[in-house]
Amino acid sequence: MTCLTIHGVTNDCLFCRIVAGEIPADVVRETDSTLAFRDIRPKAPVHVLVIPKAHYQDVDDLTAADPGLAGDVLAAAAAVAQAEGLPTAGYRMIFNTGGYGGQEVFHVHAHVLGGAPLGPMVSPA
Ligand code: 5GP
Ligand code: ZN
Repeated sequence: MTCLTIHGVTNDCLFCRIVAGEIPADVVRETDSTLAFRDIRPKAPVHVLVIPKAHYQDVDDLTAADPGLAGDVLAAAAAVAQAEGLPTAGYRMIFNTGGYGGQEVFHVHAHVLGGAPLGPMVSPA
């Protein structure tokens, strides 16, 4: 499916453009409903973003609108972690959400981070 239009409105979302192939990405996994690609500014040795191909702005919107698709994103993120060899040592999955959550790209995405000790969950404000 294309996600360049939402309810008939043109969408210039960065991650929708990656889904559409308009912006290149280092894709590590793709399913019918999800795409996983390496973060352009990795914060850990492994840093992969996992998104639904359909546009939802954050995890709240996605879960309310389509809990099955939210499950697809979680399953894809777990599969990426497995493929990257992360579960044995441990890893982190993060959904930054909204302003206080530090979200910068408003197309819901899971960060899958690992490959080294990740430090405290939240740095002091
Ligand atoms: P957020 O802060 O919204 O949770 O995370 C957005 C993430 O998207 C950041 O980690 C940032 O490095 C990543 N990012 C921003 N632009 C691009 C891009 O064009 N390509 C890729 N692969 N990642 C991007
Ligand atoms: Zn989008």
